[in-house]
Amino acid sequence: MNFKELGLTGKTLKAVDELGFEIPTQIQEKVIPHILGYEGDIVGLAQTGTGKTAAFGLPILERIQIKGKNVQTLILCPTRELCLQITRDMENYSRYIQNLSITAVYGGAGIVPQMRAVRKGTHVIVATPGRLLDLINRKVVNLGTIQYLVLDEADIMVNMGFKEELDAILETAPEERQTLLFSATMPEEVAKIASKYMKDPTEIIAGQKNSGTANVEHKYFMVHAKDKYLALKRIADFHPEIYGIIFCRTRVSTQEIADKMIKDGYNAEALHGDLSQVQRDYVMRKFREGNLQLLVATDIAARGLDVNHLTHVIHYDLPDELEIYTHRSGRTGRAGRMGTSLAIINMKENYKIRRIEKTVRRKITAANVPLGKEICEQQLMHLIDRVKAVEIDSNQISPYMGVIEEKLATLDREALLKHFVSLEFNHFLNYYQNAADLTPIVRKKKKDKPVKNIRVVKEKKKDESVRKDSVESGYSYLVLNLGKKDQILPPQLIGLINQSTRNRYIKLGRIDIAASRSRIQVENYYLDEVCDALSGYHFKGKNLSIEKEVTKKRVGDKRRKRRKNKPAKKHRLSL
Ligand code: AMP
Repeated sequence: MNFKELGLTGKTLKAVDELGFEIPTQIQEKVIPHILGYEGDIVGLAQTGTGKTAAFGLPILERIQIKGKNVQTLILCPTRELCLQITRDMENYSRYIQNLSITAVYGGAGIVPQMRAVRKGTHVIVATPGRLLDLINRKVVNLGTIQYLVLDEADIMVNMGFKEELDAILETAPEERQTLLFSATMPEEVAKIASKYMKDPTEIIAGQKNSGTANVEHKYFMVHAKDKYLALKRIADFHPEIYGIIFCRTRVSTQEIADKMIKDGYNAEALHGDLSQVQRDYVMRKFREGNLQLLVATDIAARGLDVNHLTHVIHYDLPDELEIYTHRSGRTGRAGRMGTSLAIINMKENYKIRRIEKTVRRKITAANVPLGKEICEQQLMHLIDRVKAVEIDSNQISPYMGVIEEKLATLDREALLKHFVSLEFNHFLNYYQNAADLTPIVRKKKKDKPVKNIRVVKEKKKDESVRKDSVESGYSYLVLNLGKKDQILPPQLIGLINQSTRNRYIKLGRIDIAASRSRIQVENYYLDEVCDALSGYHFKGKNLSIEKEVTKKRVGDKRRKRRKNKPAKKHRLSL
């Protein structure tokens, strides 16, 4: 079956083609003809990643009457992120339908622009329940002309306490409408909504859940609870190209793990509900754009994040509900690529793995935490591959070749290779040289029984501490005299640097904003440029003062010292 055979036509088909959707997913095969054929209400059991947005979005867009700008479709969803994601998807699907208007309506943002957009006339509203009800009560939104009402992620809306708002909204929608409810699970509250507000709905199951597909490999690492973080670092180090989400159970643990990872030099950030909307948007954008390798997130906060090419999903904490494991794992192995779902469990959680295996109907294989030696080999091969793949601009390099050859004349090929590999690689060798095996060894012989059948090879302290104070490799912190008191946020700080340097290639890392100062990681190469550029700048009338942060000695300092021949001097600019 292709999309044309499902009944899509002209402009929608062209958009689908351009988006690279070749084969409809299972839910699309069932839902698209159903909506196009006006076959009544649907209850769809489907999760994120099954293609459900296109399943309801494409046929609905085919049915919109462009003449007359009354609201014809309402899509309700639980979070602002999901609301924006669905709006983006709908805009993509309707890119060739002229004069079609889609409006996102969500809390945590100014209501006035949203009111203005709705009043101008819109065909589709994508909304979170609270803000929509507000607009209904203000008589800005009138649901009287609705033909399609979609409830997306209904179980989450109920879990988040939107039941009353949903009741109020559904009461005001006209009788003559098609209602489409999508939910990953079917708790009682959702079933009640379906029976109260829907007419003889057809139940459609998305079939195989994403994580159960052949595209996701499931593994688990069993370690002592105290070694979980070390195991996480080793997994990240063993996969230099990792691009994944690390799921934690609570907001506090999410922040803690992210903080530790950042401190230890990983390209990681936290995403959870305690962050402000601006911070969440910033982190999600960074992750979506591929400028962030590891996102440490809670399940709820990661909801609206739709990224197709994740290599890994890591369950740092196993979820309480089994369905959530499926949800999380379904975020990898998409768009025809392979993905890996890794759980790090403690010694008492083995039974949970067995239960999850039954739910996903897939074997979750036990794996050993990579050894230091294996990680070093992996990293070394990655370095060599990068060297082989790097693009060489001969024109730019040629003028320097004479000097380079002269300087390296005393080194033969072997020595040269050793020097170059050591330069990049010494810190990994140092870090892992005494690192022990983290996988507890099960002794099968009876005589070993006294230690409960398990012996743990102790991790040397060194493993934990070496990278403790390090910033991202190749970056240093600048400290700026602007902070929360000045109402500065990461996007403004980035804007300030962009404006003052006019150099869009400057690479920034982590940004920490305290009460009256901010720390910004800047790639070493650009440190002086940023310092100089901010000279003479002011923010909201305040003169800026900026300095390089003096960091404690850490792995890699030796290297820097050798290069510069003298330690970095504290550099202060009074601006
Ligand atoms: P959803 O379940 O709606 O969140 O969709 C998951 C992802 O799959 C989105 O990034 C879609 O763009 C993508 N997608 C949806 N349908 C298809 C399809 N038929 N082929 C390939 N990718 C798709």
